[in-house]
Amino acid sequence: APHQIVDVHELLDATCTMLQAKIPPGIRIVKEYDRGLPRVPAYAAELNQVWTNLIDNAISAMGESGTLSVRTSRDPGNFIVEIADTGPGIPADIRPRIFEPFFTTKAVGEGTGLGLDISYRIVVKKHHGDIRVESSPGDTRFRVYLPFEEEPI
Ligand code: ADP
Ligand code: MG
Repeated sequence: APHQIVDVHELLDATCTMLQAKIPPGIRIVKEYDRGLPRVPAYAAELNQVWTNLIDNAISAMGESGTLSVRTSRDPGNFIVEIADTGPGIPADIRPRIFEPFFTTKAVGEGTGLGLDISYRIVVKKHHGDIRVESSPGDTRFRVYLPFEEEPI
């Protein structure tokens, strides 16, 4: 299990700042953080890679305009990070393949098709968490579940 205890909100803010220059002015960023959430055991550098991949995908799906939402919440034992966009959505026929290595719908040179494969491995194998996707036109949500030990009440 990860030995670092990280502030996930700080990581999300750092990733947004780092990507700022890549985000078109017509894309609005909305952050809704549950500030009551604790720090969690995690690998900071790897998690930053996950946020970078998910936000990069969201931005490229939306093109010049839309809303990128970054939300945090919890369910019992999990810190949840949701990265959502108002882009066209993920067509049902490609949905089962998006986590496969080298699967991409982007032009040659624009996508490696590795972002979601790597993200999945970081979240599921290294953090024993999960990534779930819900997508319809105008509303795509990637939810990352990071398990943590709840303090006994
Ligand atoms: P890449 O970004 O290099 O194409 P990824 O593994 O990050 O590779 O994503 C794989 C594919 O999943 C993308 O090419 C795209 O078709 C689809 N995808 C991922 N995120 C989104 C999103 N937010 N909206 C629509 N499609 C998406
Ligand atoms: Mg990608």
